[in-house]
Amino acid sequence: MSKPDFAVIQPKVPWLVRMHYLMRTVAFAMMFGVVALHGTGDGRGPGFWALMVLLFLIYPHAQYLRTRRLADPTAAELRNLRTDSVFLGMAVATVGFPVWITFAALLGTLSNNTANKGWTGVAETLVAFPGGALIGCLLWGFHFTPETDWITTLSCIVGLTLYLTALGQVAFTRIQRLRLTREALQVRERELMNVNDALHNNLREIDELQEQLREQANRDPLTGLYNRRYLDSTLERELSRCKRDGHSLALILIDIDHFKQVNDTYGHQAGDEILLRLSALLGSMARAGDVACRYGGEEFLLLMPTMPLISAQERAEALRQAVGNLEVPFGDFRLRATLSIGIAAYPGHGTSADELIRHADTALYRAKRLGRNRVEL
Ligand code: GH3
Ligand code: MG
Ligand code: MG
Repeated sequence: MSKPDFAVIQPKVPWLVRMHYLMRTVAFAMMFGVVALHGTGDGRGPGFWALMVLLFLIYPHAQYLRTRRLADPTAAELRNLRTDSVFLGMAVATVGFPVWITFAALLGTLSNNTANKGWTGVAETLVAFPGGALIGCLLWGFHFTPETDWITTLSCIVGLTLYLTALGQVAFTRIQRLRLTREALQVRERELMNVNDALHNNLREIDELQEQLREQANRDPLTGLYNRRYLDSTLERELSRCKRDGHSLALILIDIDHFKQVNDTYGHQAGDEILLRLSALLGSMARAGDVACRYGGEEFLLLMPTMPLISAQERAEALRQAVGNLEVPFGDFRLRATLSIGIAAYPGHGTSADELIRHADTALYRAKRLGRNRVEL
């Protein structure tokens, strides 16, 4: 059995924490050096040195090792800046508040707190540093030896200068990182906008394709007229509308006479030519709102809402004559065709779609029986 593959996630220590670790280590080591210089002649005991080693040399590393393990190392690091102030306050109290050392420690921690937390940092330092000094006095007693020799003074000045320069450098790096991040964000935003545009275009194309598909599903591929499925869905609707508005509605059912003979004599393509010409005629006859549909192989149906029976009859007659006079060129031949037409109309012949279609069919059948090339009601 293979072991489950657990990914050990080692979160990267945030930049701010790593950078502060470096700064703190160096700055506190310099403070140790300065205190050592200053304290050499004072004949301090081992307890004092142990505290100095702990505060200046061990604390920065211990603090870093603790902070990097926390859930939110950056927030913890900002709190650590307060601890720095307390410890520096304690340290200057233990060495008797030498002016230059106190000044360097206070200004160092104050500027760092301010750079990271603004006025809150200033306020925190002004509480934490004297607080630390008070703790130092309580632990070691109050001493006040403000003077420092020239070498300690010089070390303080050099150390402070280096520290403030490093702080400025950190601020500069931060601004640069911000600028780069902002630029990268802008690039990402532009990319996202492009992707968004492309998506919108795709969606529009899909909409158009869907519309085309819907339209195709309702059309007969050969003639481009509506198909029977579309008629079925439309007839009921148009009939209801005409009933509601008190209008009539006419159905004209058309069948080509002896069409099989055309196919048999001239071929299927010749038959198709006639179907196309008849479809074009029907299409041009249809008013807006009429539905010209291919009802079957060589059968067509013209649905004419609001059309009274008498007008439908006139139109059917005109169509029959037009087709009768038509010569459809096909190769060397001139094809001719005649139509048999059955008409049914609402309200005279029925009130339902089925009834109307049945009546139109019966009328068409009668037209065939009575010799074809005629219109029957
Ligand atoms: P009637 O006068 O009684 O209507 O006789 P008809 O020959 O027109 O009727 P019938 O129903 O016997 O034949 C219809 C023919 O229509 C049969 C079929 O081959 C032809 N047809 C159906 N669809 C198409 C088509 O798309 N193209 C062509 N060319 N012919 C078709
Ligand atoms: Mg037929
Ligand atoms: Mg026929």
